[in-house]
Amino acid sequence: MTATLSEGALRRAICDAGRVLYERGLIGPTDGNFSARLGERYLLCTPSATHKGELRPDELVKLTLDGRVVGGGKPSSELKMHLAIYSLRPDVKTIVHAHPPCAVGLTVAGVSLEVPVVPEILFALGAVPNVPYSSPTTSDVPEAIAPILRRCDAFMMARHGSVVLSDSLKDGVMKTEIIEHTAKITLAAKIAGSASPLPTAEVQKLLKLANEARMEAVSPARPAASDTIVPSPGAASRARSSDDDVVAAIAKQVIDRLRSGS
Ligand SMILES: [Zn+2]
Repeated sequence: MTATLSEGALRRAICDAGRVLYERGLIGPTDGNFSARLGERYLLCTPSATHKGELRPDELVKLTLDGRVVGGGKPSSELKMHLAIYSLRPDVKTIVHAHPPCAVGLTVAGVSLEVPVVPEILFALGAVPNVPYSSPTTSDVPEAIAPILRRCDAFMMARHGSVVLSDSLKDGVMKTEIIEHTAKITLAAKIAGSASPLPTAEVQKLLKLANEARMEAVSPARPAASDTIVPSPGAASRARSSDDDVVAAIAKQVIDRLRSGS
């Protein structure tokens, strides 16, 4: 887990993420940006306009949670987006923003992966919606993404790139690969003739199954097996929040009945 990594290990993990994403064609040389919480008070993020495939740990920028630089050079031009996400989602430990070419190309064509043509992405990431275009680096980006941050751990910014919220850089990179892999399948289906999405009922069924698997994985009574889907902390906390709401509603009904004597 990222929270247990030392600053040095976290810096290396961010550099590794950049190298892997670049080598696998998920970013261009200076594309993308990545960040991670460092303890309770700080963030580490990638510097602006640098080759993300050749990052060095000492090049990373250290900031406070409100964006004040305390070490390193100029932070990523998308820092506003990162700060907004960490502010709105206390459960998020890392952010991986990449430019996976097929996935971005589909957004240009108005195709969304939210209702995908294959099921795997739903298990790994849940829904991955498209967010309408906004000018990169501006305050328009946090404004555009805010509405979907409560319900999603990954999304596509139209004509721009992917964003994955996670608890480790490695997980964020893996999920970015899943997004691009799903986009390639979707593109192949379109070229071959038809990219019919999964039926809505099937999507709902798969999301329910995925959520159940996540809840089993976080249950202390049933430790996660090595091949069990590891939940994003956001999904888990939202699920717990939902359970809490149900419990609160039932408790209120019971108390109301007791008070009315029925
Ligand atoms: Zn970008």
